Amino acid sequence: MKSIQSNIKKAKKYLDKNQCIAVPTETVYGLAANAYSNVSVKRIFKLKKRPANNPLIVHYSDINKLKNDCYINDDFIKLYRKLSPGPITFILKLKKVSKISKFVTNKQNTLAVRFPKHPLFKRLLKSLKYPLAAPSANMSTRLSSVKASDVIEEFGSKIKYVLDGGKCLIGLESTIINLLKKPTILRFGALDVSKIEKILKKRVLIKTNSKKKIAPGQFPLHYSPGIPLRTNAKKPKKNEAFVLVKKRKSTMKNYYYLSKNNNLQQSAKNLYSLLRKIKNDGYKMIAVEKIQNKGIGKTINDRLNRASKY
Ligand code: AMP
Ligand code: MG
Repeated sequence: MKSIQSNIKKAKKYLDKNQCIAVPTETVYGLAANAYSNVSVKRIFKLKKRPANNPLIVHYSDINKLKNDCYINDDFIKLYRKLSPGPITFILKLKKVSKISKFVTNKQNTLAVRFPKHPLFKRLLKSLKYPLAAPSANMSTRLSSVKASDVIEEFGSKIKYVLDGGKCLIGLESTIINLLKKPTILRFGALDVSKIEKILKKRVLIKTNSKKKIAPGQFPLHYSPGIPLRTNAKKPKKNEAFVLVKKRKSTMKNYYYLSKNNNLQQSAKNLYSLLRKIKNDGYKMIAVEKIQNKGIGKTINDRLNRASKY
C-alpha cells in the first residue's frame, strides 16, 4: 500500500517535469505525458517515432474535468454512464478555450478521450492538475505492451519510469467511436460494437478502413511483431511458428496456443505477449490458424490482418 503511494508520487514527479512515463491500463500500457504541455506531448511522438499526423488519446479521471476541454452530447452521456471507466474512446468536439496541446490533435478541432479503469492509473490522474495524453507504449507500427517488461523491451533506457500495474486485464486496445455526427466506429477494440448499439438503441456506422486515415489503428500496417505473419493458415510451413486456438491431439515444438481451448477473451489477452514470445524464441515467420470472426474475435482478426501487412 505504501509502495503504491510512493510509486504514484514518483510518477507524478516525472509528469510534472514534462517527462513521459509508462502507465498501466486495463487495455494495454500507455506512454503518458501532460496533454496541456507542448514539450511533454512532443516527447511522446519522438520516443514512439510516431508520425505527427496521428493524434493521441487523452485520459481523464472524470467527466467534470473533460468539460474543460470538450463539448459533450446525448450519445456520449449514454455511453459514458454505462461504459466508463472502460475500454472505449470517444471522439468529441474540442472547445476553443481548451488548453490541450495542438500536437495532441494535430491541430484538428476534435479530441479522442477515454476514462481508464486501472486503479493505479485512476489514482495517478486524480493527483494531477492536467489530463494525460497516452498512446500505447510501443514503437510506432509494432505490438502494444501488456506488461512492464514489454515497455522496457520497446524503449530500453529511453523510458524514464514505468508505473508497474501488472499484466493488462484485457490486452487489446480500446474501441474508438466518433460521436460528432452519426456514431461511427473508427477502430475495433476491446468493447463489442453490439454492446454500444444496445445502449444507443441504434445501429452505428463502421469505418475502420477509411481512405481518409484519421486513426493510426486504421493504417494498413500496425500491431506487427516485426516479422512476417500470415492468417487463416491450415498448417505451418517449414520454420514457421504456428499460432492455434483449437486444441490438437499432438503438439509440436513450434505450436503456440492463444488459449486453453478456443476461448476468445483469453486469446485477446494473450495475443500480443504470445507474438512477442514467438519472436524472442527466434522464429522468423508466423502462421495463425483461422479465428472466429465474432465478438472480440473481430478485433483479434483486425489486428492480425494489419500485422500481416509486414
Ligand atoms: P493508440 O493509443 O496508440 O492505440 O492510438 C490512439 C488512437 O486514437 C489512434 O488510432 C488515433 O488515431 C486515435 N485518435 C486520436 N485522436 C483522434 C481524433 N481526434 N480523431 C480520430 N481518431 C483519433
Ligand atoms: Mg497504438
